[in-house]
Amino acid sequence: MNQDKIRVRFAPSPTGPLHIGGVRTALYNYLFAKKHGGDMLLRIEDTDQTRYVEGAENYIIESLQWCGIHFNEGVGIGGPFAPYRQSERKAIYKQYALDLIDKGYAYYAFDSPQELDAARKSYEAEKKNFQYDQHNRLEFKNSLTLTEPEVTAIIESDEPYVIRIMIPENEEILVTDLIRGEVRVNSTQLDDKVIFKSDGLPTYHLANVVDDYLMKISHVIRGEEWLPSAPLHVLLYRYLGWEHAMPQFAHLPLLLKPDGNGKLSKRDGDRMGFPVFPLQWTDPQTKEISSGYRESGYLPDACINMLAFLGWNPGTEQEIFSMDELIEAFSLERVGKAGSKFDPEKAKWFNHHYLQQMSDARLAELLAPELTLKVPHLDNEKLLTVIGMVKPRMTFIHEFWEQASFFFVAPDSYDAKSVKDRWRQDSAEIMKKVGDLLQETEPFYAAVAKHNVMNFITEAQLNTGQVMNALRLLIVGASKGPDLFEIMELIGKEQSLNRIEKGIVALSQA
Ligand code: GLU
Repeated sequence: MNQDKIRVRFAPSPTGPLHIGGVRTALYNYLFAKKHGGDMLLRIEDTDQTRYVEGAENYIIESLQWCGIHFNEGVGIGGPFAPYRQSERKAIYKQYALDLIDKGYAYYAFDSPQELDAARKSYEAEKKNFQYDQHNRLEFKNSLTLTEPEVTAIIESDEPYVIRIMIPENEEILVTDLIRGEVRVNSTQLDDKVIFKSDGLPTYHLANVVDDYLMKISHVIRGEEWLPSAPLHVLLYRYLGWEHAMPQFAHLPLLLKPDGNGKLSKRDGDRMGFPVFPLQWTDPQTKEISSGYRESGYLPDACINMLAFLGWNPGTEQEIFSMDELIEAFSLERVGKAGSKFDPEKAKWFNHHYLQQMSDARLAELLAPELTLKVPHLDNEKLLTVIGMVKPRMTFIHEFWEQASFFFVAPDSYDAKSVKDRWRQDSAEIMKKVGDLLQETEPFYAAVAKHNVMNFITEAQLNTGQVMNALRLLIVGASKGPDLFEIMELIGKEQSLNRIEKGIVALSQA
């Protein structure tokens, strides 16, 4: 291992918005670092300039901030190993690629894109997969096949070249992974990957290994999609003479679609009706908008709790964990190997829970700005009471108005289905009587009104359900809401009677 201190990194490439799988990777790194009193850094891996997407880096930083995942060092923070953006570290990498050439572990390659394309096509014509490797490297134009003066001449000219790793023949490469155990790969299957590009920048593989080494990373915790690259990384550590300091690897299981059929992709979310991005994202080119957890009304604590469970479990029945509790409970040993199915209903379940934990006063604060636009003289006491009554029915803050508008404004329409099912021929007449009764009800408390209405129902030998349904329709405008007598007490006698009167007229005309 690199050193005693635990140091991890989150190393996204700014190629688009951060998928929740990426947030989970960042979270597991964070939990692991915090648990062991270590450091976590944010490194932006932007050496592939062709895939650079405007705004992605800021998006990544803002997303992680929103989630409460904080870094000790990195882009936007600085630190002892700055800069942390790979494009700003350009000058660092070439010496390592040249060192590998000197030691005979890498070579220059001069094949043009057209030549490589032609080679690929001729392989495909024979139904073979093309890769530049130990089987065919001597058929190409590279420093293994050209003479030294030829190579020097090309390098000194303006002709573009790349540097490729020279994968050894028939060697077993061992990747020790904290989650998968020992993974052995025979080098014959690997290709001679480009490690340094014609634009003067390293590829991901070289930059990643060099930076992990220089930044003294002790553990590489990343998605399973990088496992196939790990043998190459092991070779790079060995060839660069850094094997003693190689970080430990932990490849996290994939996040799967809700039905378990394949990887949860960026497109799945909006197609299946749930966000796959932490924050809303507008594609800078197409202007296409992808929904985000934040904008969809999820609370960061709920997202974190939900993500923590996609691949890890505490080994107990406990499901609700604050960030501090996660830090305490987390261990890589309890991260599974199998892919983890994303469950949109569970995400809602967590949000419901965290919303219930929020104090009524805090919820009132969050709701007030928008509510005051709808309700001119918003009474905070009343708002708090209403919140207390409807919060248990809410999963998202934005559901409040839908659940509670009738506490503040009279219905201006009546739900058609409820009218059809619940408003009968004799309803108007019965409701008039209920109105008269409520007029006489003093004090206008829920319990008193309830007592009077129930007595009336018994004496008139009516059906409780029918009476109450019709009354609810007049007061609320639909078949929903908490206890009707409590609603009436809160809106007051005058408002209740107005609604009954107005409703009878409206529904009798219908
Ligand atoms: N830049 C890589 C990515 O975008 C990082 C992979 C790694 O953590 O090594 O995911």
